[in-house]
Amino acid sequence: MTDPRSRLDTTKLLAARYRAASDRPYLASALYALTVVPSPDVPTMGVDRHWRCYVSPAFVDATPVEELAGVWIHEVAHLLRDHHGRAGRLPAADQRDRYRVNVAQDCEINDDLLADGLRLPAGRVEPRLFGLPDGQLFEAYLPQLPPHVREHDCGSGAHGRPAPWELPGSAGPAALGDVEAQALRRLTAEAMRTHQRTRGTLPAGWQRWAEELLEPTVDWRQALSGAVREAAAWAGGAVDYTYRRPSRRTPALRGVVLPSLRRPLPRVAVVVDTSGSMGDAELAAALGEVTGVLREVGVRGNRVTVLACDADVHAVSRVTSTEQITLGGGGGTDMRVGIEAALAARDRPTIVIVLTDGFTPWPAETPSCRIVAALIGSEAPQPPGWVETVRVPL
Ligand SMILES: [Zn+2]
Repeated sequence: MTDPRSRLDTTKLLAARYRAASDRPYLASALYALTVVPSPDVPTMGVDRHWRCYVSPAFVDATPVEELAGVWIHEVAHLLRDHHGRAGRLPAADQRDRYRVNVAQDCEINDDLLADGLRLPAGRVEPRLFGLPDGQLFEAYLPQLPPHVREHDCGSGAHGRPAPWELPGSAGPAALGDVEAQALRRLTAEAMRTHQRTRGTLPAGWQRWAEELLEPTVDWRQALSGAVREAAAWAGGAVDYTYRRPSRRTPALRGVVLPSLRRPLPRVAVVVDTSGSMGDAELAAALGEVTGVLREVGVRGNRVTVLACDADVHAVSRVTSTEQITLGGGGGTDMRVGIEAALAARDRPTIVIVLTDGFTPWPAETPSCRIVAALIGSEAPQPPGWVETVRVPL
């Protein structure tokens, strides 16, 4: 005999999905990409990261179609907004409390759904339950939630940790891959944009999501620190093997002397354009970012030289603190002078970081070092291809 709890009213459940898709046509592709997996163990409905939707037959029986339609949209929102991917980027301590993460994510979703006139079952989570304003992302709600909130488990498609009722791995019924999922997100964002253009309405949360997905705004601080970090790793790795006796903890290699990789810290020169066409604040911010990252990766002290490249006299001076950098009154800039001076030093740097407004000639050929340029201001011309560039808008 089948357990009556496992008898799923598929007609009702799919009628609810049809209703959700016809009310919000831009979500139709995403809604129909979900595969239904009936499970008596899931409390209501939940999703895994492979776009499988686990459904409690008892919950379907007890919930009106209109509210089930809202829950369909709730579940697909977890996946479209890549909640599991974003949860994986939280600090480890925050990731551990899946319930708290889940509640924060439900806050991010439900305020938009309710503002959009959708109906959700009683007992739903929304920001005002915690005295919080609508319209934030879950990463912002999370630290503001009281400790030990424990309400929901929308599955690994939300908080990233597999729930007990989930199918293992990506095998089994119609698991969606990451590439397909990303394509589906794009398709949905484009459908939202079209909907907004033709109908003029789109909930604010979805609007922001679609914009960010189609035209991501890259944070220059992140881009610059990424470029510096990467250059440091490259310079640290581009190095010699030294013959050393392996540690005695490597028993399989006893008696054999193998080359071991030594990763010395790179030397870095930061060349600052002082021609004065850049903003003081932006220059200070860019320099602060660079020195901060270098300190983090262990490159500091006499391994970092800062050179101020004076535009008027084409003189280069070594500075030991940011305050010593004074911006000049404009004039022609030639960062080649600064780069040459940096490379002529006795302790030749492997990385040269140039902070400039970009109105400068560049060396004619690839120098034997890695060059990262932070181009300050939106007008900066593009340097040659071998210069890695990060744009810092004014
Ligand atoms: Zn949820």
